[in-house]
Amino acid sequence: MPELPEVETVRRALAPVVTGQQVTDVFVGRKDLRWPLPEALDSQLLGRHFAAPMRRGKYVLMPTDDGQILLIHLGMSGSIRIHEAKPELTRHDHIMVTVDAADGGHRYIVLNDPRRFGWVDLFAADDMATHKLLRDMGPEPLGNGFSAAHMQTVFANLKSPVKNALLDQRLIAGIGNIYACEALFKAGISPRRRAGSITAGRAEKLVHAIVTVLRAAIAEGGTSLRDHVQPGGEIGYFVQQLSVYGRAGLPCVTCATPIRTIVQSGRSSFYCSSCQR
Ligand SMILES: [Zn+2]
Repeated sequence: MPELPEVETVRRALAPVVTGQQVTDVFVGRKDLRWPLPEALDSQLLGRHFAAPMRRGKYVLMPTDDGQILLIHLGMSGSIRIHEAKPELTRHDHIMVTVDAADGGHRYIVLNDPRRFGWVDLFAADDMATHKLLRDMGPEPLGNGFSAAHMQTVFANLKSPVKNALLDQRLIAGIGNIYACEALFKAGISPRRRAGSITAGRAEKLVHAIVTVLRAAIAEGGTSLRDHVQPGGEIGYFVQQLSVYGRAGLPCVTCATPIRTIVQSGRSSFYCSSCQR
């Protein structure tokens, strides 16, 4: 499932392709993904120019020159591909936006989503602060509003495990299961520890760990874009170095204790019972 670094990689791939370019064609293959698609999405986008894309949490936000924002969430299985030649669309290619390109040709941006847990919205940029998906979202972990003090404040009265708190988008934006596991390992904090018991020292470590793992993953994503030789490959899915996630039973990279897994709120947590307290 795409988390902040994967979505940031998608944003960075889209930026040079769409910024300042005009939409010349829109294909919408169905009326809904997870939720109904916006009314007349195709005619609303046709002829518009895109401004530079942004990201908020796990959302890609693509502003248009008529004061709207196209929001894309990739859900569980969604992906974006960018083609230089018009592709044959396959069964799970639900949306294709064609834009002009600086070389006189076109670029074809395809949203593929086999499980259709993703969603797309188009709304007025003026409504961004009140948009139902964005208004309650916590600070960006790589932004200025994120700090150990913020973490301690929002975790203070929580009885839930710190792992669950990290996944709560209202507290911190963009962190999903993989990076929550990795950050807790790096900070030496058990995923089972009560969020409200995180001390200033642990909050400091955890904030540093979150920033470090996210930055490293974004760098991997950047590498994957540079090495992107296959035309039309899925953007935002890249191989990365993971210390605990997906390593149940394998030796801890630090102490060789077998990595354990437990289920918390329906999601698997991976951790070292020796390194993480
Ligand atoms: Zn260990």
